[in-house]
Amino acid sequence: GRANIGVTGMAVMGSNLARNLASREGNTVAIHNRTTEKAERLAADHPDAGFVVARTAQDFADALARPRTAVIMVKAGAPTDAVINELADVFEPGDIIVDGGNADFRDTIRRERELRARGINFVGCGISGGEEGALLGPSLMPGGSAEGYATLGPILQTIAARAPEDGEPCVTHVGTDGAGHFVKMVHNGIEYADMQLIGEAYDLMRRILGMTPAEIADVFDEWNAGELDSYLIEITAQVLRQDDPRGGGPLIDKVLDAAGAKGTGSWTVQNALDLGVPVSGIAEAVFARSLSSDPARRAIGQELPGPERPVRVEDPRVFLADIRGALHAAKIIAYAQGFDEIAAGAGKYGWEIHPGEIARIWRAGCIIRARFLGTITQAYADDPGLVSLLGAPVFAESLGKAQQGWRRVVAAAVYSGVPVPAFATSLAYYDALRSPRLPAALTQLQRDFFGAHTYRRTDDEGSFHVLWSGDRSEVRES
Ligand code: NDP
Repeated sequence: GRANIGVTGMAVMGSNLARNLASREGNTVAIHNRTTEKAERLAADHPDAGFVVARTAQDFADALARPRTAVIMVKAGAPTDAVINELADVFEPGDIIVDGGNADFRDTIRRERELRARGINFVGCGISGGEEGALLGPSLMPGGSAEGYATLGPILQTIAARAPEDGEPCVTHVGTDGAGHFVKMVHNGIEYADMQLIGEAYDLMRRILGMTPAEIADVFDEWNAGELDSYLIEITAQVLRQDDPRGGGPLIDKVLDAAGAKGTGSWTVQNALDLGVPVSGIAEAVFARSLSSDPARRAIGQELPGPERPVRVEDPRVFLADIRGALHAAKIIAYAQGFDEIAAGAGKYGWEIHPGEIARIWRAGCIIRARFLGTITQAYADDPGLVSLLGAPVFAESLGKAQQGWRRVVAAAVYSGVPVPAFATSLAYYDALRSPRLPAALTQLQRDFFGAHTYRRTDDEGSFHVLWSGDRSEVRES
């Protein structure tokens, strides 16, 4: 074998990943695709890359140095299973098969188990950054055996994005089997929340302050210089400044306001529900996209009454500062919730995941890349036992500074009839955690009343039940 790494699946992601690999010192890349012409065309288009084109799976196996290391970049689901099986039949024990597609982590757990039984190291690798990331440097989230990572890790380090702060490659051994794809899933959920929060900030400036898209772009540019510095804020400013190429004003005003989704955001929420972890910021972001894409209900909504006009803001500069603080605070909540889901997933599936490492590898290459992530890494470094990001002094302080303005923003939105589901739910989460007493005590008594589900007391051990339909005395449940 001549190549140290192979890529199969020559659609846009696989082609770009193969080109990225080939451009790095020390790599020789074998390429393969079900439809062979695509691999041949890529090699012909990029003669300098030195690609080794493999026509069959056997050719592919023969082209690779041992232990063979191959990345699969094909459609998630059944096609991925088909390609894994095809490779496993021609690979040998000790070889490494990497799935770089957007797999469901439970499929990754199953595939890893099946391939381990055949002696093959299977790695489920989350890849973020889209086409451009694949070509220039993605954030990589590989999960699998330590043995597989020993060979794969150094290769992945050659292509990963590098953090601007310290030049470190955005890749780490996330954990065993499905850990990488799980973390990639949560990344996408956080991405939904981040985008929704920015959308709400935009809507408040537009509808309450009456600002133009170009004026709002200037505000986002300004915010991008501070603690909100991030790729998403940066592209938001660019998008808002874009005029309709067909003429006649800002493009955003011509775009159908129905948001699409490919499903990873809802996976994040579904798994959070299963794990019992509130990820309310992410959930509201997913729901907001669904609502936007429901013309039937939105048509009904056009007939419903609301406030006549938005509230009058005394000092727009103060309100802008409030929005900025609210955005930062709600973002802290969304990330805290996402990291809670990662911790809960690690607990349930037996992964040893270092949250600070996850924040570290999200600092570049991926969609949620931001200065903020370095702060999260530092928070976990300062306190490796950190239960919630809200417990980190740096974030507690930011929340404390922002909370009054955050309330003014949510209140103004409510009075003005502007929906801010993510700002509002994150504030509710913050206040719920702050509350010394929650109405959950009432919930417990209701449950005991209709279902004899019992309750615990603050002043005694054990479980209790009231004889609601009898003499209403309390009995101790054994
Ligand atoms: P596609 O998801 O469109 O998949 C196309 C590739 O899959 C082609 O190479 C095709 O081969 C191959 N394929 C499909 N069915 C089979 C099969 N039954 N057997 C063998 N090969 C098959 O390609 P993308 O490049 O868009 O995405 C690749 C993976 O990366 C996907 O899992 C996707 O979800 C993920 N992805 C990740 C992104 C990210 O930002 N991380 C962005 C986009 C995608 P052929 O040419 O013969 O048809």
